[in-house]
Amino acid sequence: MVGFKEKEKIGAVMVVGGGIGGIQAALNLADSGFYVYLLEKSPAIGGKMSQLDKTYPTNDCSMCIMAPKLVECGRHLNIEIITYADIESVEGSAGNFKVKVKKRARSIDMDRCIGCGLCIENCPVTNQTYPKEPMDSNTYPEI
Ligand code: SF4
Repeated sequence: MVGFKEKEKIGAVMVVGGGIGGIQAALNLADSGFYVYLLEKSPAIGGKMSQLDKTYPTNDCSMCIMAPKLVECGRHLNIEIITYADIESVEGSAGNFKVKVKKRARSIDMDRCIGCGLCIENCPVTNQTYPKEPMDSNTYPEI
């Protein structure tokens, strides 16, 4: 394998899962000086907590806790967020892994998208907003 040395340690880590736990782990590692690849299978980070209104047992506003972390994560120079992607393979050993990631097609130019939502409103194929699953007690535990 070209450019891949088993014993050489590198200053980058991958956090798999972009829920609140993954976000906090990525922030802690990035603040410690590591370059972090935050991998999430869904189109956006946030996970289940971003779907909640309140959190147990303190009844705190979920998004009030999460929003600052989302912003910090998105702006942190040491964090690269990779969404809508899965791990295909992992090689190497502790201190130096090589991970092959498969990104799914979004059919939009992410560098130009401003998040206006017009494509969702006017989609001629499904005309459904994300998430497509019906709201149930598993998806939204507080309902
Ligand atoms: S219509 Fe708006 S949300 Fe959809 S891709 Fe274009 S800029 Fe992004």
